[in-house]
Amino acid sequence: MESFFKAFFTEYLLDLVLPLTKGPNMHRLPALLAACALSFSLSPAAHAAPAAPVGNLSSNLGSSSNEGVKNAYRSLPREIRDNPQIKQIARDLGIVSPPAPPVAPAPQGPVPAPPQPRPRAGCPNCVALTYDDGPVADTNRLLDILGANRVHASFFLLAPKVNAQPGLVRRMRDSGHTVGNHSVSHPELNKLHPNQVAAEIAGGTNAINAAIGTRPRWFRPPYGATNGSVNAQIGNAGQAVAMWNVDTEDWRTRDTNQTCRTAVDGARPGSIVLMHDIHPATVNAAQCIIDGLRAKGLEPVSLDEMIPNPQAGRVYNQR
Ligand SMILES: [Zn+2]
Repeated sequence: MESFFKAFFTEYLLDLVLPLTKGPNMHRLPALLAACALSFSLSPAAHAAPAAPVGNLSSNLGSSSNEGVKNAYRSLPREIRDNPQIKQIARDLGIVSPPAPPVAPAPQGPVPAPPQPRPRAGCPNCVALTYDDGPVADTNRLLDILGANRVHASFFLLAPKVNAQPGLVRRMRDSGHTVGNHSVSHPELNKLHPNQVAAEIAGGTNAINAAIGTRPRWFRPPYGATNGSVNAQIGNAGQAVAMWNVDTEDWRTRDTNQTCRTAVDGARPGSIVLMHDIHPATVNAAQCIIDGLRAKGLEPVSLDEMIPNPQAGRVYNQR
């Protein structure tokens, strides 16, 4: 029986009556609603359900007021109220609100947003530690030491090594370090044709972007070999030129104590310290450098922390 009434309602009643309620005939809605409710009230299922108070509906039949229509609508069984055509009419009459816009689903998956290092306000005692020419497997050991000391640093990466170890670059990013561009093949850019310079910059940018989905904001010219033309090209790529004012010469000495001493002794507020994480002696010096800087009242940070808004194409030797 129930299915008969539902079929009757959907197949005939709506087809016959709905056109009569459109446009200027909307005032006929109460009659339609009453007919629907009556048809359902005859259904055995409707008697079991707490719906279809035909008496209330009938008392609203003659009312063309909005309140009467609302009451008639509300007294309908949910199955009828949920009928798309009925619902649309109710919306047209302002009885029910239009459907809420779909809510964007929350991002799924195990990848949380990376913790963004906060710019230090003023950063009066900050010193930026920078490491070039990686990443290499031993960079993981340096990341362990930095993490244990809650220190962020900056890494200037070569494209082939980024492509070889993208997971390591993601670890840098996820840990809050600054990931910078150090070209593809480590040339002296000031001796290259502008097209080659552009290719070196773009190659490094693309490798980093492929690994972490973000284009670098910093470029360090290999050997510090740059000029106005190269700096302009770096600027066109949207990157700032990261030079330094403390050179540990760690690549030459390969001496842990010497590297630590040079870094700590040379550091002043706002300094940028040049090192290379491809040398184990430099990785070994990290704890000594962090402790030495803090003993001087200085705090090691990343470039993004010390210079939160670098200007593309501008040369930074220090803050
Ligand atoms: Zn280098």
